[in-house]
Amino acid sequence: CGIVGYIGKQEATPILVEGLKKLEYRGYDSAGIALYNEGNTDIFKIVGKLDNLKGLTDKEEPKGSIGIGHTRWATHGKPSTPNSHPHTSANGKFTVVHNGIIENYMKLKEELKGKGYEFKSETDTEVIPNLIQENYDGDLEEAVRKTIARLEGAYALVILSSEEPDKLITVREDSPLIIGLGEEEYFIGSDIPAILKHTDEVYILDDGEMAVITRAGVELSTVTGDQVDKDVFKVDWDP
Ligand code: GLU
Repeated sequence: CGIVGYIGKQEATPILVEGLKKLEYRGYDSAGIALYNEGNTDIFKIVGKLDNLKGLTDKEEPKGSIGIGHTRWATHGKPSTPNSHPHTSANGKFTVVHNGIIENYMKLKEELKGKGYEFKSETDTEVIPNLIQENYDGDLEEAVRKTIARLEGAYALVILSSEEPDKLITVREDSPLIIGLGEEEYFIGSDIPAILKHTDEVYILDDGEMAVITRAGVELSTVTGDQVDKDVFKVDWDP
């Protein structure tokens, strides 16, 4: 029910966990984060309150300056640790957080199972990282576009991949998503409170839009590949 993301130079864990805290008002039953660090994507997720997640991350603070986070309001599959986000593809290389519902996930799941994919959760979400794996041919952006073309429903997504670790890709359809703009660092959130501590300049994504975010900047496009020019929105509330 809440999404956050970070790419920059700082340690991502505190930024992600604090961002999720600011989105608590949206309600949730579980929480998790994923960080890319030295070739691997490390996932920490657990059912229950953010304090449970903090219990995990305080013990062994996940390292890395790129990551994604999620608070889940279960729609498909009970609230549980395996059903919590982030979800990873079968080969472990594509990691996704998702708000919303994939209406046609049953059909996609059967199709992927037919190709030998094994599933670790009961969620609708898990088809997404697996479809990205299936569509990946050396170009993450292209794999995401092909995957989006197969999805029906509502989604805000953030995608992290150890194949192309210095980027985050985010997409929105019927579920809110904003990008906070810093100096060589960017913050993703479902809503402004998640990022307001760090910046007051944001892009507000519209339905059918996608962003490829690196430390060098944000490239906006439509999911079908047309360039998007968007004004920076200046937030004028107090943090
Ligand atoms: N449909 C997804 C799930 O049940 C995402 C729910 C959400 O928006 O938090 O895991």
